[in-house]
Order: sequence, then C-alpha cells, then structure tokens
Amino acid sequence: MILSQFDEHSVFSQLDAFGHQKVIYCSDPSTGLKAIIAIHDTTLGPALGGTRMQPYKSEHEALQDVLRLSRSMTYKSAITGLNLGGGKAVIIGDSRLHKSEALMRRFGRFIENLNGSFITAEDVGTNPRDMEYIRMETKHVTGIPESIGGSGDPSPVTAKGVFMGIKACLKEHFGNDSLAGKSIAVQGIGQVGENLVGLLRNENAKVYISDIDEDRLRQVAQKYGAIAVANNNLFDLDIDIYSPCALGATVNTETINRLKCSIIAGSANNQLADEVVHGYLLLEKGIMYAPDYLINAGGLINCYSEIAGFNKKKTLQMTENIYEVTRRVLQKSKLENIPTNEAANKIAEKRIEDIRKIKASY
Ligand code: NAD
Repeated sequence: MILSQFDEHSVFSQLDAFGHQKVIYCSDPSTGLKAIIAIHDTTLGPALGGTRMQPYKSEHEALQDVLRLSRSMTYKSAITGLNLGGGKAVIIGDSRLHKSEALMRRFGRFIENLNGSFITAEDVGTNPRDMEYIRMETKHVTGIPESIGGSGDPSPVTAKGVFMGIKACLKEHFGNDSLAGKSIAVQGIGQVGENLVGLLRNENAKVYISDIDEDRLRQVAQKYGAIAVANNNLFDLDIDIYSPCALGATVNTETINRLKCSIIAGSANNQLADEVVHGYLLLEKGIMYAPDYLINAGGLINCYSEIAGFNKKKTLQMTENIYEVTRRVLQKSKLENIPTNEAANKIAEKRIEDIRKIKASY
C-alpha cells in the first residue's frame, strides 16, 4: 500500500509530511505514563530534544506538538554546527498532579531502549529533579544538575548567545556592534531575560524592561539601572531593538505595525506568529529579525557540552560563534532578498544534505 492511500490524519501521513524517521508511543498503566517520543532526523548525530509535560487535550494535539518541536530541533542543531539530530518527547499529563518518581524512571527505561538514538533534557513541565530520575535508568539525558556532574542551568549561556545575536544584527545594520547608546526593550526578565539585561547594561545600552511579575520588574530595574515599562507600552517605544524573552507569537501583524525598532532579537521560541507571513512582512518593513532558534541555541550548546565533554571555555566559545552564524544568515537574507528565518532554514538544510552525502561514502 502506498502512503497516499492513508487518511491525511493518520500517524504515517503526518510522519511523511514532517519527514520524521520514527515515533515511539510509550504506555505504562501502572505509573500512568503516556508519552510520545519523536525522532525527526539523525543525519548529524543522535536526536536531542527536551521532554515536555503538558495536559494535552487529545492524543492528536500531543502528536502534532511533538512532531513540530522535534523537527525544529533538527534545524536548531544543524545551524548551530552541532553533531546532533532533532528529537523531542511529550508526556501527556498535568506536571503538578501526575508526575512521580516511578513515572519518570519508567519513561527513562523507554529512552534507554532506544540505545542512544534519542537523548533528552528538561523542557516545559519538567525540571532538573526529573532529569535526575531519568538518569537513574539511562545515561541518555543531559541538563542534569552540576552537583551530579551535569552542565547545570543553561539560562546564562542562552542569554550570552542572544547577546551575540544582537551584536551580529547591530554589525550588519549599523556597521559596528557597539551597544553603547543603543536602546533596547526586553520583554520578560526571567532566567534568560535578567542575564541578558546584565550583559546589555555592562555595555551601556539603554534598557527598557517589562514583565507580568511586577515585583520582579521593580527589583531587576533597580539592580541593573533599567527602565521598567508597562507590558502593553513596549511596542510603542522609540527603540533600536526589541528583544522578546517571555513567550512566542509576539511578533505579529499588529505589533509589527506598531514597532519602531530596526532589529528584533530575543530568546523566546516561535516569536513569529506565522513564519511565512510575518517573515515576509518584516523583510518588507526593513526590520532585521535574528531567527529565534539560532540565537537562543546557547541552552542546547550547554546540553551538548555534557555529551561532548566540553569544558566551560569551549561551551562559551561555541556560544560566541552564534555571532558569525547570525551574520551569515543576515547576509544571505540580504543577498537573496528572503526573510532571515528562510535563510537560516536553507543554511541548516544544506549542512544536513552535505553531511548526508559524506556519510553515504563509507
Ligand atoms: P522564565 O520562565 O524564567 O521567564 C519568563 C519571564 O517572562 C517570567 O519572568 C514571566 O513572568 C515573564 N512573562 C510571562 N508572560 C509574560 C507576558 N505576557 N509579558 C511579559 N512577561 C511575561 O523563562 P526563561 O527560561 O527566561 O525563558 C524565556 C524564553 O526563552 C522562553 O520562551 C523559553 O522557551 C526561551 N528559551 C529559554 C532557554 C533557557 O535556557 N532558559 C533556552 C532557549 C529558549
């Protein structure tokens, strides 16, 4: 039977549409575990991706999420120059109610059975403690606490990568990458945002910050000499750079029409509400967008350091390289007159194809 004969909602049809290699359904009634592991592409190396735990409304919604997220991990690893493929896992359930040591360790056994073709890490709804439980059953887990030999909190490394991405944009847009006298609005001053504010203030940028947590907003403003603004006013500021570091889809038709900045560069995942529509709208408006999955790859590099045995210096060097890769993406976008996210995808796809050919020769 050929694939086109399957219903478009069948799992096989969806795997075909996204180009996945493998999807594993994990079920264990005794612990209540219901999980899906998706391995998108392993051309460059083992598939690495976080395990997300969420109370998905349906199995279909969980599958869609894991397919989409694992595919984007393939691109993220490829563009960052890591020898990793793309994967992701989702556990269906409320992380506050349904999580237990047994459930996590049972999930770890499923990962162990994949013999290293999938390596996981923490994500939304999971934490370092969960990774420790998984580690009890398999060594194929990263992002474990420093106290047990892991790379620890990735947020400072992620912030450093975002900072390098911002500097690359400045270099391409203004001809030099100095932040002195430049103004930037950081939305969300959580783990990554606060570290980023520190780096920006060290280089004398004028920093506006917003967050829904007003106490934290006040504290961070005072600690770094940043200017706190109401969340909704952020998009009307006269600034050079908008840095989304809270949540996705904040770059949409409404905000693009309000924004007065010339650069968008932040850590949040899936910043463009619609990759195609808003990628082209930004290109039309002359707003330079640093692809999120590239400049927020510091966290992934931090995880990779555990597998590759890198020390902190090497991890930092690899993260600083985000500067050069971002410049390459921006130059390709300009040369081919395509959105920067499309330019990044093309560079990632080319690397995978090039390495696929090399592997085919032995
Ligand atoms: P975090 O949860 O520590 O911080 C998020 C901050 O955003 C919080 O202070 C929260 O109060 C604030 N926030 C939430 N909704 C908001 C809203 N509507 N408006 C303004 N502020 C709002 O998360 P984080 O680890 O700092 O990550 C920030 C973003 O970067 C997330 O999108 C995350 O997926 C992405 N990211 C993080 C890492 C990492 O290493 N932590 C790596 C890659 C990508």
